[in-house]
Amino acid sequence: MYHSKIYLCTKFLTNKKGIMAYKITDKCVACGTCIDECPVGAISEGSIYSIDPDTCVSCGTCAGACPNDAIVED
Ligand code: SF4
Ligand code: SF4
Repeated sequence: MYHSKIYLCTKFLTNKKGIMAYKITDKCVACGTCIDECPVGAISEGSIYSIDPDTCVSCGTCAGACPNDAIVED
């Protein structure tokens, strides 16, 4: 019983992570539009911007806001 609970928890986390992540590709031109759109602060600045996959909740808002189609589902 104890082991099955651990299994279910691990399985949930694995599925959640697989569904969650969006990523920023090298099409990013660092315009900064997406960073203010993310409701959970998952996007960081850089020469190209990046998304923390552990923070991203896969809402897709940033992908819709990016003028260069640089954000895709991972
Ligand atoms: S909106 Fe698109 S191009 Fe602009 S910083 Fe974000 S990912 Fe890069
Ligand atoms: S998909 Fe949503 S939560 Fe994930 S980085 Fe984009 S705006 Fe943030």
